[in-house]
Amino acid sequence: MKQVPDRDVDIRGRSHGIMEEMINRLREKKKALSAVLIVLAVGLLALALILSFPANKSGEKGGSSESAHDGIYKTLEVHFLDVGQGDAALIICGDESMLIDAGSNDSAEYVKKYLEGHGITKFKYAVGTHFDSDHVGGLDEILSDFEVETLLIPDQERDTKSYRDVIKNKNKAGKVVIPKVGDTFTLGDATLTVFAPARNDYEESNDFSIVLRLDHGEDSFLFTGDAQEESEKEMLAAGLDVHVDVLKVSHHGSKKSSIRQFLETVVPKYAVVSCAKDNDYGHPHAPVLKRLRILGAQLFRTDEQGTIVCYSDGHSIAWNKAPSESWQQGRAPEKSEDDGVENKAA
Ligand SMILES: [Zn+2]
Repeated sequence: MKQVPDRDVDIRGRSHGIMEEMINRLREKKKALSAVLIVLAVGLLALALILSFPANKSGEKGGSSESAHDGIYKTLEVHFLDVGQGDAALIICGDESMLIDAGSNDSAEYVKKYLEGHGITKFKYAVGTHFDSDHVGGLDEILSDFEVETLLIPDQERDTKSYRDVIKNKNKAGKVVIPKVGDTFTLGDATLTVFAPARNDYEESNDFSIVLRLDHGEDSFLFTGDAQEESEKEMLAAGLDVHVDVLKVSHHGSKKSSIRQFLETVVPKYAVVSCAKDNDYGHPHAPVLKRLRILGAQLFRTDEQGTIVCYSDGHSIAWNKAPSESWQQGRAPEKSEDDGVENKAA
């Protein structure tokens, strides 16, 4: 019976030992569990970072993924050059530049001097929207005198000197691209999207115009070349988002372009008309001016104001001049019929 306390002690002693061992094991397990949890947390964090990376990158497109961007953009400048009756727009974003059209042959010297004055020696892109001489007349000289990485032209053939001059010089560019609807390009932190032409068999030369939407943060632009009713209807039918802040009004403000439905979808805050004072065609035409005015657009025009520059910081747009208040249609010295520009200027 005396053994009992001994056994008791022994049992207690052993049970103490077992308890300690259990506690130690538990501690070990706890340590192991903590280590596993830390590894898991680090893994999840890494996965989250990897997943968020493409979202940040796509933030440069603006729009839906805007929130992923830090909100700081390079300054974007758009210069609407006064090339008389024609188009030429210089776009600079960060240290990259592009030119959309180069005016007529007659304005080539002015364009080249302007570009040199702004320190431009090369273009990431040069665009000949279509082969009318008031848009590509000076483009051969740009290709000769400036470094052009990529030349964008439509799939259009013309039997004109301007066309032949561009084709003769096109391989001076690093590459020549015939863009398709939906193609995108980047300029600094801005994105360009091709909206037209959708085909290569238009009746009207103007409908071959390459139309580009430019997005820079929350600011947006539409460069329309001379796209007319047919191309405008195609863009609307395709559901392309033509709603922008700044519209380069198509075809110098001609009533053959800027149909009501198109302008009512664009609803531009700012509209720019590039044309010569007292041009032969009476550009800009009264119905287009009326539509823009009703929509509340602020109008800028090179025939009244010369070269016009706007600046975007990705959140708001500023201009170097106050808008035109005249709302006067162009005065045609003779007849106010469109087209024929090619024969006259080429
Ligand atoms: Zn034109």
